[in-house]
Amino acid sequence: MFMGYVDLHIHTTASDGVMSPSEIVRHGKTKGLQAIAITDHDTIEGLEEGLSEGERIGFEVIPGIEISAVHSPGSMHLLGYFLDNHHPHINERLGYLQKARAERNPKIVEKLNQLGIELTYEEVLKASGGGQVGRPHFARVLLEKKYVRSFQEAFNRFLKKGAPAYVEKIRFTAKEALHFINDAKGVAVLAHPKTLNLDGYSELENLLRQLIDEGLQGIETYYPEHSALEVAQYKTLAERYGLLMTGGTDYHGIEKNGFDIGVGRGEMKLPYSMVESLKAARNRVLLSGR
Ligand code: AMP
Ligand code: ZN
Ligand code: FE
Ligand code: FE
Repeated sequence: MFMGYVDLHIHTTASDGVMSPSEIVRHGKTKGLQAIAITDHDTIEGLEEGLSEGERIGFEVIPGIEISAVHSPGSMHLLGYFLDNHHPHINERLGYLQKARAERNPKIVEKLNQLGIELTYEEVLKASGGGQVGRPHFARVLLEKKYVRSFQEAFNRFLKKGAPAYVEKIRFTAKEALHFINDAKGVAVLAHPKTLNLDGYSELENLLRQLIDEGLQGIETYYPEHSALEVAQYKTLAERYGLLMTGGTDYHGIEKNGFDIGVGRGEMKLPYSMVESLKAARNRVLLSGR
């Protein structure tokens, strides 16, 4: 039997993606993928809709989440797969992160206003379509109002870390994020290690050891921004530490990266065996009664 390809890192309108959970699920099926994972920032709000659309059209959807953790100088994101979205503490803990976002967003508006940009929080809320509000929504409004010529320019001039309208966000520490994922019976995977901006291989190795102690089980090896050398390094580390390897495009819709779900720029061909490894890890979690 032919095993199709998968994409294990995707955003929907529940966070800062462009398509709703049902749209993205239909899109994945139309593109001929075998499975996708929905991994929205700090929220599981899109999962029920995505999962039930998957059931309706006969397409495998893996529930997930992406959580930002404290890290410097780059950014650390942790993916959680197969977490139990009915777990009693999950919404309370995510509520903490969502509240942090709600407090941060008006501050970004204020900074933009001080820079002479006329933009209201209402406009940003509207652009977000009702899910968690993030910087990409600000970028879309800036683009729409022609303050910038591209989505990327909005980040470079205003929104990225170090830019004049950047506002820090309260985050979990890596340990807290891993605990959160493990506690909800999920499988924890380090997202796009490249964005950690570490100096070299041994720094990443040291960090991985620490994260593994704290509950990390996998590393997102395949990602559109990873070079062939980086992929090779992540593979070596995964093998050395028994981490499972995953991959995904981090698809948000069209404007951000100019690539499509499942394929990236055409080079991503992620086998279904990645899903099987995740499921095996998840079964070990359940059996261990953790
Ligand atoms: P937030 O969660 O509000 O901090 O927004 C994070 C999201 O913004 C990421 O998932 C990316 O989609 C996007 N993003 C962050 N930094 C950049 C950047 N330098 N250029 C383009 N997009 C970015
Ligand atoms: Zn995003
Ligand atoms: Fe990310
Ligand atoms: Fe992402």
